Amino acid sequence: QQVVKEAEEKKTMVVDSKNAASLVSELRGTFSTGKTRSYEWRTTQIKNIIKLVEERESDIFEALRSDLSKPELESFVSEISMTKASCKTMLKELKHWMKPEPAKTKLTTFPSSAEIVSEPLGVVLVISAWNYPVLLSLDPVIGAIAAGNAVVLKPSEVAPATSSLLAKLLPEYVDKSAIRVVEGAVAETTALLEQRWDKILYTGNGKVGRIVMAAAAKHLTPVVLELGGKNPVVVDSNVNLKVAVRRIIAGKWGCNNGQACISPDYIITTKSFAPQLIDALKSTLEEFYGKDPLQSKDLSRIVNSSHFQRLAQLLDDDKVSGKIVHGGQRDEKRIKIAPTLLLDVPHNSLIMKEEIFGPLLLIITVDKVEDSFVIINSRSKPLAAYLFTNDKALEKKFVDSISAGGMLINDTCLHLAVHTLPFGGVGESGMGSYHGKFSFDTFSHKKAVLYRSFGGDASARYPPYTLKKQRV
Ligand code: NAD
Repeated sequence: QQVVKEAEEKKTMVVDSKNAASLVSELRGTFSTGKTRSYEWRTTQIKNIIKLVEERESDIFEALRSDLSKPELESFVSEISMTKASCKTMLKELKHWMKPEPAKTKLTTFPSSAEIVSEPLGVVLVISAWNYPVLLSLDPVIGAIAAGNAVVLKPSEVAPATSSLLAKLLPEYVDKSAIRVVEGAVAETTALLEQRWDKILYTGNGKVGRIVMAAAAKHLTPVVLELGGKNPVVVDSNVNLKVAVRRIIAGKWGCNNGQACISPDYIITTKSFAPQLIDALKSTLEEFYGKDPLQSKDLSRIVNSSHFQRLAQLLDDDKVSGKIVHGGQRDEKRIKIAPTLLLDVPHNSLIMKEEIFGPLLLIITVDKVEDSFVIINSRSKPLAAYLFTNDKALEKKFVDSISAGGMLINDTCLHLAVHTLPFGGVGESGMGSYHGKFSFDTFSHKKAVLYRSFGGDASARYPPYTLKKQRV
């Protein structure tokens, strides 16, 4: 009832199993007209998304402030600019990507030619998460459009202002006969997941990822699961400490106050280097966020009370007591937690098992830096793994022996912005990838086409099968 009332007020669509089915069938109708296949249609929609983020920038800032108190500069860099950059990559490369790719043929099929044709999949579903609610919604939608699909976006209800803004703005800017937004939480997403889609791209936690995959399996729908995990940062003692520490802080607290899928979760360093590293982290945190970081305007708040309670529980675990070496302050009313460092918490504590996804950073010490590899490889494969070192041999060993969705040497998070790199997880951190050409490929079917003429019709193929023919 409440959802219906809110939707009526906002004039957005309420979804249950029945109208989810008619929504998909309506979009299938649009897709079957072939309009979404043309280069012009695709590029018009993408240009209109650029217009949307440019013209409605202040509304977007406001929604992000309301959902996360996200600092404007962060919103600009990581939501607006990155969405625009994704659109621009598509506009620049799309014509070339849409062209069939010639493929070599073999003597067996002589004379013939072959090509790989990228065709749109049909009607796809994008389910996005709350932490980068603009980018994580629009970026997959841009990929789906670039590949010529009709698409339904289900933004996260955990970022309600942004979800509502996208539901209002997208139909004003793009072709709503092929691109739709459905708002809602579990019930609405469940109704959507009952339908047959041609692909589902889901961003969020692995528990729901399993629900999405099980629902998709009923229709043999392929999925991309953009999940998370505990991202390690190995810090060698030979680094430029000042630069390393600034970059770790930028990737942790400077990314939505640690509520980012590729934010560092734990540092591993040597016992002998840890004191220097901790001192540098403490002083740089103070330089960036002041003596009372709960008052800093440059830190997002925790998204809501239930995530605040989840993080508070990690800190209140008995096993963690006495392990906080910096921070720990919280303000329950304003759902804020200060940047917090915890040193050598026991391996069986909750915080060592669960993805933190917030402003707490663990520091684990080892005897030798190489010991860190054993720790990382004994855990689920992370979405991102980071190494700070000046040692090329260590760098090579890290790249060769650690499995992660992506990795970055001597910095954090920036690999996400490189559109020539695929973005996605492995193992528990997800499957499939997107960004740039990888988005186009993710939402396309690679159709194998072999062309022959009527010449070269070797009789050896046809019965009657004789021993002589077998030897040809
Ligand atoms: P969330 O709560 O916004 O949930 C994600 C989506 O799942 C939402 O649209 C929500 O409506 C839907 N959902 C929730 N419960 C559902 C259910 N029972 N059935 C069907 N749909 C359901 O986001 P979250 O899960 O809190 O996101 C945080 C997690 O996402 C972290 O693990 C983080 O690492 C990961 N993440 C990954 C990426 C990436 O690109 N790999 C990006 C952001 C976040």
